This record gives sequence, structure tokens and C-alpha cells, in this order.
Amino acid sequence: MKADVLKADALPVGHASQRRLSILGATGSVGVNTLDLIAHNNKIEPGSLKIVALTSNKNADLLARQAIATNAEFAAIANRDFLPHLQEALAGTGIRCGGGPEALIEAASMEADWVMAAIVGAAGLQPVLAAAKSGADIAIANKECLVCAGDLLLSEMKKSSGRLLPVDSEHNAIFQVFDFERPHRVTKLILTASGGPFREWSLAQMADVLPAQAVAHPNWSMGAKISVDSATMMNKGLELIEAAHLFPIEPDRIEILIHPQSVVHSMVEYVDGSVLAQMGTPDMRTPIASALAWPDRVSSPSAKLNLAQIGDLSFHTPDEIRFPSLRLAREALKTGGVAPTFLNAANEVAVEAFLTGHIKFLDIFAITEQVLEKALDWPPCVETLETVLEADKMARSLAKQAISR
Ligand code: NAD
Ligand code: MG
Repeated sequence: MKADVLKADALPVGHASQRRLSILGATGSVGVNTLDLIAHNNKIEPGSLKIVALTSNKNADLLARQAIATNAEFAAIANRDFLPHLQEALAGTGIRCGGGPEALIEAASMEADWVMAAIVGAAGLQPVLAAAKSGADIAIANKECLVCAGDLLLSEMKKSSGRLLPVDSEHNAIFQVFDFERPHRVTKLILTASGGPFREWSLAQMADVLPAQAVAHPNWSMGAKISVDSATMMNKGLELIEAAHLFPIEPDRIEILIHPQSVVHSMVEYVDGSVLAQMGTPDMRTPIASALAWPDRVSSPSAKLNLAQIGDLSFHTPDEIRFPSLRLAREALKTGGVAPTFLNAANEVAVEAFLTGHIKFLDIFAITEQVLEKALDWPPCVETLETVLEADKMARSLAKQAISR
């Protein structure tokens, strides 16, 4: 079923002369990289890529500049308080705009060939589901959607004529080397992890980490939330759950390997002992380009890999004592039901509380674990949008209670 949804061998739709593209979360790190890649390819083939809709949470200035620069059809701002600002910035341009959750759904539902899902967090779920219903190909960067509602999103994609194209660098790597026609010949997926900025820190040192230290990732330039997730290694925990949804393999066959250079983006091991890896410099424009053109290739401005200059690549197993996120993610996956939704929501709340100075770095683990335990009390239920939203709300409220204690 998963291979079906990923439709790895299908040709992109609407590839004729001009492809219509939308970007949800256009003002973030992935959104900006996507627009950069699109501009780069429009220089090579002028007019080949048309921007339909762009969205942001609060950044009306940047959103308006992006919409004007790309002559987008529609710009949507999630936080309605910033709509007057957006309207003013777009006045006289002929570009339509809207505010609030409905405007995001409208943006996601507009006729497009390809939609980049790059909103951060579970906030991206309803727009992604709307894009899935529209029949567009979905380039999925927003891993939290797969973690909190993977079955729901996959079942929507199954009904859709569009393909789900992994953008997260590890999943994009696996997608490129996974034999979807012979999944039974795959013995293992190996997700690589940089280990984050505290890879070699002691627990005592980690206790006093400041937000500015946690968002300074050694290899990748990313949004604040995913940078903290990389520092706690919850990012890898979420990616483990993401991989379990995307690829037809048992979760206990997904391994995590620390690889500080972030050159090998992930690997697939086959029954004959062959291990296929995808490599590249740590630049999101490469996996975004892969998802934009798949199964074709397009040019990317990302630097080319120079292995001679890098010299050595190293690998080692992660320390699950200092980084319990990996254990928590495995537990959530094993428990099933609402557990991954609880894990994701609690982590989102805890990371926000850490970034705003309300809790310490190691509290992120304690709060997430406490909330995850409560998922066991939740009655078994079918995954629908309503059950996911209800579980997400409950987990957020439990996390806030734990923080205020
Ligand atoms: P970011 O914080 O830089 O940007 C997030 C985007 O989402 C912004 O456009 C913001 O305006 C929008 N947004 C935030 N809250 C919103 C809300 N409540 N409603 C609507 N829109 C909202 O994040 P990012 O680093 O670009 O990451 C985006 C997603 O891609 C995340 O799920 C992340 O895990 C995933 N991802 C990012 C990278 C990376 O290199 N940055 C790599 C792999 C995966
Ligand atoms: Mg990743």
C-alpha cells in the first residue's frame, strides 16, 4: 500500500509546458529554499514553473515580497491579525490575498500540479489534507503531519491522483534508492543523523544549554523548531515514525546511525548485503529539486559534493541515555493509536517553552515522556481528522500542565 501511495515510478502530471506550484509555509527555511530553486530553474527554462499560492503564519512583509516577485495568484496569511498589513503591501498588484485558517485551505486547494508542504508542526495538517484532496503531487517536508496523522494522510493520498514525494533529506535519500518493486528484498533502512550541536556534550553540560546554542545547528540552516529537535534528537525520533509511514518495512528494521558530516543522507540495505546510499552536500535545495522533478532531474544551485576535500566520513551508534527521544519515538510507534500524536504535540509545546525560556533543555524529554505515558489511557479509535485534533489538543493541554507545575 505504501509503495502505491508513493507511486515512485509514475510520471509527474502537468509536465507539459508550465507546471503550477504552491508553497505552504513559503516564508520559512524550506519555503525560501524552494522559491530559490524555482527561480533558478525559471532562469534556465523561462516561464516553466508558475507560482499559484504562497502562505505564511505572520510574516506579511516577506510573503508580500515573495508574491510580488513571483507574480503569485494568491497569498494567504494564517494569523488574521497580519492580513491588513498583507493587503496594504499587495495593494495595486492584482494579487489576491486572504487571512485565517480558511485562507490557508483555499491556498492549498487551488489547482496546482505540485504543492510543497513546508509549514512547521501539526498546524500544517489541515492544509496538507486539503492539498491531498486537490489531486496535486505533495512534496512533504512537514514531517509532523506524517507523525500525528500518517494513516489519514496516506489514505487521502491513496484516493488522490497525486504522488507523495518525501523532502526530508533522509526520506528523500531512501526514496531515491528504495526498490519499490521488490520491497521484500530490503533488509534495513539506515537513517543518518548529524547528532546535533550537543552530540559530544555530557548530560551536565546539556542541562544548561541556552536556546541560542540549541538553534545553531552544525551542518544545516533550518527553522528554530527543527533545529531544537535536532539538538534533542527528537528530529530523528519523528523521522523514524515518518519513515515507518512512508516505506513498506517493519519499524524494527529502521536503524539510526550518527554521521556528523551529513554527507550520506540515508541508506537502504538489501538481502545480498548491498547498501545503497544517497549523498550530497547538506543543502535542502537538493532533496527539494529531487521532489520537484521526480523521476526526472533538474538543476540545483546547491554546492556539489567534493569527497576528496571532506576526506573522512564517520559513523557511530547514538547514545539513547543522553538522547532518550529515540526510545520515546520507538515506544510511540509500538503503542500506536494516538501515541505518536501525543508525542508530537507534547514535543511541540515543550520546544516552544524551551525557546521562550520557560523550561530547561532536558525538561523537553521529561515533559514529552510524561505526556506520552498518558496516551495509554486513550481508548483505541480509528484515525480521523477529528480524533487526531482531539488527541493533539489533549496532549498540548497535558504538556502545558506539566510545564506549569
Ligand atoms: P520554519 O520555522 O523556518 O518555517 C515554517 C513555515 O511555516 C513559515 O512559513 C511559517 O510562517 C509557517 N507557519 C508556522 N506556524 C504556522 C501556523 N501555525 N500556521 C500556518 N503556518 C505556519 O520551518 P522550516 O525549517 O522551514 O521547516 C518546515 C517543515 O519542514 C518542518 O516540518 C520541518 O520539520 C521540515 N523540514 C525542514 C528542514 C529544513 O532544512 N529547514 C529539513 C527537513 C524537514
Ligand atoms: Mg531530516
